[in-house]
Amino acid sequence: MESELTHRNHTTTATQQQSPTLSPRSNPWIPVGNWKAPFVYMAQKQRLVFVLIGIAISAMFFNSFPVTMSSLSQQASRSENIESSSMTRRVLYEAFQEGFRGRSVGGKVALGLKKKSLRIVVTGGAGFVGSHLVDRLIARGDSVIVVDNFFTGRKENLMQHFGNPKFELIRHDVVEPILLEVDQIYHLACPASPVHYKFNPTNVVGTLNMLGLAKRVGARFLLTSTSEVYGDPLQHPQVETYWGNVNPIGVRSCYDEGKRTAETLTMDYHRSLGIEVRIARIFNTYGPRMCIDDGRVVSNFVAQALRKEPMTVYGDGKQTRSFQYVSDLVEGLIRLMEGDYVGPFNLGNPGEFTMLELAEVVQEAIDPNAKIEFRPNTEDDPHKRKPDISKAKQLLGWEPTISLRKGLPLMVNDFRQRIFGNPKTVIVGGGAMA
Ligand code: NAD
Ligand code: UDP
Ligand code: UDP
Repeated sequence: MESELTHRNHTTTATQQQSPTLSPRSNPWIPVGNWKAPFVYMAQKQRLVFVLIGIAISAMFFNSFPVTMSSLSQQASRSENIESSSMTRRVLYEAFQEGFRGRSVGGKVALGLKKKSLRIVVTGGAGFVGSHLVDRLIARGDSVIVVDNFFTGRKENLMQHFGNPKFELIRHDVVEPILLEVDQIYHLACPASPVHYKFNPTNVVGTLNMLGLAKRVGARFLLTSTSEVYGDPLQHPQVETYWGNVNPIGVRSCYDEGKRTAETLTMDYHRSLGIEVRIARIFNTYGPRMCIDDGRVVSNFVAQALRKEPMTVYGDGKQTRSFQYVSDLVEGLIRLMEGDYVGPFNLGNPGEFTMLELAEVVQEAIDPNAKIEFRPNTEDDPHKRKPDISKAKQLLGWEPTISLRKGLPLMVNDFRQRIFGNPKTVIVGGGAMA
């Protein structure tokens, strides 16, 4: 009996014999000298349809089994625990950043041809720094969820985003667990003023919950720590390698030690679980939307000078601080989150002022006749503070651009509107918009 194979061979041979235009060489189906032949070939026997089905199946495969930035970089971070500057991690990041046309992400974002916008949670996003950060993230097209308990934050800081489908606002206290699906977590929730933070244990429990969230969804986590981790510093200016001089049982300890513990937790989750983390040590920051009566020195002096009250200088006024404008900080936070380095990084303006010098700048901006009144200083007040930002300059390509004399008038405009002006005014960025 003739086998099927023999039969097919016979058929082929017969076809070849009947068709004198077929090539006698390697591929018998390509006719010699006929440029249309490949197209005719594809058109025959629904071959084109099968090719298209093949492409569709491949696309479905890549969507169903996403390769993630997070999982790959977490593998890299297990091989090298602390700094994510290891070769493995860097090579992975560079390769994938190239793939994403320069955009670095965290979280379970599927590799694909299309650039995907990120889902980002900003805890404390209704506050001063958080709301400016949200503006920037929304402006670049990402979806933002703000989690805030409105302890010191205000809905007014975010009203410009109400109605935007890419924006969500959740009233929630981060000391309670929360389930969200996100790619990045900016963890700011925490009262930042000495007047408020004495009443709130946010730092430790809130940070633990947000790290738990980062672990569950594979998100990248950024902690906003503080220059307070240096306490009353014995090194000046402060470099990130300095361990600080902190009173563990003083009136500021819940904040200082809380943030130090938050840094510890962050590094432990990074080292032991491979969570992608970033740590910013923020120095004194000012700008529009600062809480008016939260007791911080810039907001106190500006509000007092505007209200024609004396500016309250604590102690002899010779203690120093370095003041950074909020947009500089936001730029630094975003660079840190998108960059390859864990940190910690000092984010602050190295310009150093005594409180008496600050009062002079406020006089220049508001009222040259504004008075000064001396008050007893608070306990454990750090004598001086100034960031060394060499590390951020070198590794993040970041440094502040707005001096105190340039930034302060922008804040004064906002305070003037809020103290005397139309209460419905929405403050957008550095200026005001009705
Ligand atoms: P802020 O008080 O204006 O904002 C903090 C926000 O967190 C507020 O909206 C508040 O309602 C919210 N919040 C507080 N506790 C919360 C909780 N348990 N759950 C949910 N939300 C909560 O302060 P800010 O100046 O915008 O500071 C933001 C972050 O930056 C803080 O973590 C702070 O420690 C850090 N920081 C700020 C400065 C600065 O000078 N502004 C300096 C160093 C560090
Ligand atoms: N957590 C949270 N959201 C999540 C995952 C965890 O709020 O999506 C909280 C969780 O309730 C816990 C904390 O984060 O209190 C730490 O979580 P982790 O899984 O690291 O620790 P465990 O629950 O195993 O002790
Ligand atoms: N300060 C002041 N007058 C005020 C409020 C604060 O002289 O009305 C001083 C305070 O003693 C400290 C400095 O300003 O030396 C900065 O205080 P702030 O609370 O703004 O920030 P932090 O102490 O956390 O750096």
